[in-house]
Amino acid sequence: MPAGFSVGGPQYHRRVTPHDVFSELVGQDEPVEVLRRAAAAAARVVAGEPGGGGMTHAWIFTGPPGSRRTVAARVFAAALQCQRDGAGCGECHGCHTTLAGTHADVRVVTTEGLTIKTEETRSVVLRSASAPTGGRWQVVIIEAADRLHERASNALLKAIEEPAPRTVFLLCTPSVHPDDILVTIRSRCRLVSLRQPPSAAVADFLVQRFDVAPEQAGWAAAASQGDVERARQLAGDPEARDRRAEVLSVPRRLTSIGACFDVAAKLEAATKLEAASAVAELDVAERTALERALGAGGTGRGATGAMRGAAGQLKELERNQKLRATRAQRDALDRALQDLIGFYRDVLVTSMRAPVPVVHGDLQAVSSAAAEKWSPESTLRRMEAVLACRDAIDKNVKPQVALEAMMVTLWKG
Ligand SMILES: [Zn+2]
Repeated sequence: MPAGFSVGGPQYHRRVTPHDVFSELVGQDEPVEVLRRAAAAAARVVAGEPGGGGMTHAWIFTGPPGSRRTVAARVFAAALQCQRDGAGCGECHGCHTTLAGTHADVRVVTTEGLTIKTEETRSVVLRSASAPTGGRWQVVIIEAADRLHERASNALLKAIEEPAPRTVFLLCTPSVHPDDILVTIRSRCRLVSLRQPPSAAVADFLVQRFDVAPEQAGWAAAASQGDVERARQLAGDPEARDRRAEVLSVPRRLTSIGACFDVAAKLEAATKLEAASAVAELDVAERTALERALGAGGTGRGATGAMRGAAGQLKELERNQKLRATRAQRDALDRALQDLIGFYRDVLVTSMRAPVPVVHGDLQAVSSAAAEKWSPESTLRRMEAVLACRDAIDKNVKPQVALEAMMVTLWKG
């Protein structure tokens, strides 16, 4: 099977069926309709015709984790660059290069690297006023607009206030809360709210695109609780399935106070390991690139000073890489806690006989047994303990401490 292009996330083998770029936005019918109309209007503007209003120069994409905000921004950018009347055909040069990240008129301020650098962001924003080389649109995607520093935000605000005629800003942020985005920026943007896609839509996507067997797709879609990337991972990666099984064995392993501490330590270690393996490849590549740029070795006059500067840069890289590893561990912990919440939710809906489908269908026997044993109140306390743990980690409490506190409540109820 040939490797297809990828929209965000890791490379993945996909079925080669014709589809337009919007089909990436699983279960987002309303936003897709808005974006399609805007891209068509934008194409009319390019053709010198009246646009008809649907298009504007600044957009905000929001939505819960897993709703694929950045994918939505990239897909819209592709449609804006699409040579077939903004249809987002997925096949023309404009679509292709945008999705591959090589289009000359699409600049992405990404979160994949280390931190979002203020200077870099400012210079991207400042350069955005130039005319598009391809004659269509100059697009700037900011993948984590909520993490912009003040100076970068101000440059962005200025650019949005006085837009160049063919420049479009696509900002991605979890919400439009003032903590996430300046009110003054928000007020000048059109909002695209993505939702958590329904399980059935996610399952269908896995079947159509990745050739996952329907039963497996249904299970992965439910277990991922609407997170498309997570569903794709569960369907295609046995290690991800093993890690999930390990996390979901936690409730059964909590048999004593000693077990609570033991299970907390093991979960902490497992997420650290997962994070380390997630960033390892990128770490090495960055270090090699930096060493090459610094010209490893070198003798003669000035070499000592240069070496000292190089040592500083390497140290800076190491510091940033450590931050990224911490962030990756938080992501791994977050996935684990999300799985646990799903389990306790299943226990609750079972004991209340609520007519809703369970998240972890493969663990129904365990959640039913727990529903027999625990009162709904104690199940709720367990759910609250997981949420409190997540909150604590968000507020920089050491993961192990937060996990230990959570495990004790999960055990006692
Ligand atoms: Zn196209």
